[in-house]
Amino acid sequence: MSQVRLRFAPSPTGYLHVGGARTALFNWLLARKQHGKFILRIEDTDVARSTQQSVDAILEGMTWLGLDWDEGPFYQSDNFPLYKEYVQKLLAAGKAYKCYCSSEELEAKREQALKEGGKPKYDGTCRELAAQPDDGRPYVVRFKAPQQGTTSWVDLVKGKISFENAELDDLIVQRTDGTPTYNFVVVVDDASMAITTVIRGDDHVNNTPRQILLYQALESEVPSFAHVPMILGADKARLSKRHGATSVIAYREMGFLPEAMVNYLVRLGWSYGDEEIFSLEDLIQKFSIENVGRSAGVFNTEKLLWLNAHYIKNGDPVRLAGLVTPFLSERGVKPEGGPDLVAVVKTLQERAKTMLELADGALFYYRGDFAYDEKGAAKFFNAETPALLAELLGKLEALGSFDLAAIEGVFKAICEEKGIKLGQIAPAVRLALSGSTASPGIYEMIEVFGKAETGKRLERAIAAIK
Ligand code: GLU
Repeated sequence: MSQVRLRFAPSPTGYLHVGGARTALFNWLLARKQHGKFILRIEDTDVARSTQQSVDAILEGMTWLGLDWDEGPFYQSDNFPLYKEYVQKLLAAGKAYKCYCSSEELEAKREQALKEGGKPKYDGTCRELAAQPDDGRPYVVRFKAPQQGTTSWVDLVKGKISFENAELDDLIVQRTDGTPTYNFVVVVDDASMAITTVIRGDDHVNNTPRQILLYQALESEVPSFAHVPMILGADKARLSKRHGATSVIAYREMGFLPEAMVNYLVRLGWSYGDEEIFSLEDLIQKFSIENVGRSAGVFNTEKLLWLNAHYIKNGDPVRLAGLVTPFLSERGVKPEGGPDLVAVVKTLQERAKTMLELADGALFYYRGDFAYDEKGAAKFFNAETPALLAELLGKLEALGSFDLAAIEGVFKAICEEKGIKLGQIAPAVRLALSGSTASPGIYEMIEVFGKAETGKRLERAIAAIK
């Protein structure tokens, strides 16, 4: 079999939407799985709506997700001469014609057709013009579509789909200003890039029969098509801003990891038994278009959070430390000079659902001037606490090796000596070190702070209680 060639063809009129990212991911996975090529094509023929900012945002989103491309990015706006050439080809072969109907005439015909209960499609006035007007009148170029028969394809997701050709219009391929239209450029590009499989959203199903007819007219091989269902919000309406963030990069900013996002997106439409956790490498092995379902996926933030928590918990602390740094600086914290950030991350990654939570959880390590949780202080700071904390401090300072086991040993010794339970000292220590009643384990915190900082915080609490 010849090499598969897939593409992602976003229109740069906004950020990378989660739906677009999933389409990109499916194309990328199939290309990687079958050792083919993944091509990035920017569909910017709508010059007025396309922006460089949006191109950058799309590339940023794809790079973040790890979806690298082998060819491109190609820009349709660079290809206008090619599209012109193809229009000429169709005209020369009698497969397209110039249409001189004015927009007023077309509008009148449309209204007439609607009034008569017919479909408002082009009536073919210029299809067989005996003579071309030579008065410099503006014209569009229309594709001379077959009027009989059916156009069908076996969709890799939806099965066989057929359209009656009689239902399809003589599509405009070139406007009066000489610019090509959307369905035409997609076909010219997919044909000239030798795309073998088109995976895209099922909002394009109605374009496909028109595109197939164009491939045939251009005598190009028709690729196979896979139209994937849309992503819906919880209310089963198409996912939109109203449901929350739809930009992939917004999820990075909310503290999601790219591997969680990829894992989440792939499962919105594809399944593999009842497995839930997939790395990119797993997916390259296991992904297949046959296992993409026909029904629409519903976006579920809870599940995304669950996956994110999984990847944070199992993530490499060195990498996580790098990723959390920008969130910390947004919060005015520079880890340099404070406790080792990797060690800090290790104490927090077990419980954080997002990198944002991880950053918030890390703040107390770097800020010693916090207020003590009021309820906690009322409950756990009492008349005996200063003496206990002082005792603890003395024992910790006397330690040789300052590791978890040694620290734990100090607590055991104090409990034994005083005849108290750990629960009678630990909450006060927690509060003294972190200001809060919920924190990482106290031995871990003490180890991360080291002797000097632990001492400072215990003394601060002692002074505050007195
Ligand atoms: N540019 C189109 C879009 O963003 C994609 C067209 C296609 O994949 O064929 O929806």
